[in-house]
Amino acid sequence: MPRKPFYSEGIRFECQGSGKCCTSRGTYGFVYLTEQDRNRFAKFFNLTVDEFITKHCNTKNGWVFLKDDPSKNGDCVYLEGNRCTTYEARPEQCRTWPFWPENMNPKTWSKDIEGYCPGVGKGKLHTYEEIKAILGVQEDTDES
Ligand code: SF4
Repeated sequence: MPRKPFYSEGIRFECQGSGKCCTSRGTYGFVYLTEQDRNRFAKFFNLTVDEFITKHCNTKNGWVFLKDDPSKNGDCVYLEGNRCTTYEARPEQCRTWPFWPENMNPKTWSKDIEGYCPGVGKGKLHTYEEIKAILGVQEDTDES
């Protein structure tokens, strides 16, 4: 019988506003944008999607991600203090933290996520079904 995932009883998570998920930790330093994210951001900045991409994004191997600002040491360009300056328009990646496919294995969760993000273990219980649905959204938008 397949083993149940470590989050089969659900996980409590509520953002504590630490901004830690917006700061660079190597491979976690990229903010990838789905097509929907690009449309939302273009509207937020009152630009066309093409203008938004030219001005604010880099692209590589078909991926579109936010441009880096070297003065911010890899932290997201839209992070000021602990605050996201584009919160209403923030991308899917930011909306679904910490339930990312690459985080949802016991080793990564206990080593990189649990102790790092102060929101883990707090607030609302996200059920197994809810987490699966969030992971599904991410997997569906991965090819953008
Ligand atoms: S867009 Fe906002 S929520 Fe997402 S990483 Fe940047 S500062 Fe954080």
